Amino acid sequence: MKLINKTRLSDKVLENILRDAAKALNKRVRTTGVVVKVVYNKKSTYTNGWALKCDTIKWGKKDKRIKTDKGVIHISVPCLYDELKDEYTKQATGFFETMRHEWGHVSDFQSKKKLAFDQGLNGRRRNHGNRLEERRVHQYIEAAEKRGHTTDKYMNVISQFAEEVIKKYSKNMYL
Ligand SMILES: [Zn+2]
Repeated sequence: MKLINKTRLSDKVLENILRDAAKALNKRVRTTGVVVKVVYNKKSTYTNGWALKCDTIKWGKKDKRIKTDKGVIHISVPCLYDELKDEYTKQATGFFETMRHEWGHVSDFQSKKKLAFDQGLNGRRRNHGNRLEERRVHQYIEAAEKRGHTTDKYMNVISQFAEEVIKKYSKNMYL
């Protein structure tokens, strides 16, 4: 994974949750050469993520062009919703699930199979949830969960991530 970490969180904690989210997909996905940029979103209490199929990426004018293994993921760490521990765990779970979803797209980008995509076609697009690529990713996740890769199974890494968010972003010293 080529991690671009724009948060205060440690690379190690981020790498752990990002990798486990790929494992939770229970599907072939090469993580090593994928560029993952993580930002902290101080305006949203929800994780936002997107994935893009490309061979190289250049973020800003001053940045170097980076080679990718068919994909780039951009994901945000949500700001703290409430100074309650349960809320952090919920948000951390949302982060994990969003990341798992984005790996699903990358898995398609890397696939040698001919897969149908709605996105990027000319004309009107279906609404997000009905796009072929979205429905496909939902099926991957359903199949993985049936095989035991539920969010509960990854609670350790999710909790570690939540702890790190509290440590680096909470103003409440009593947590
Ligand atoms: Zn999607």
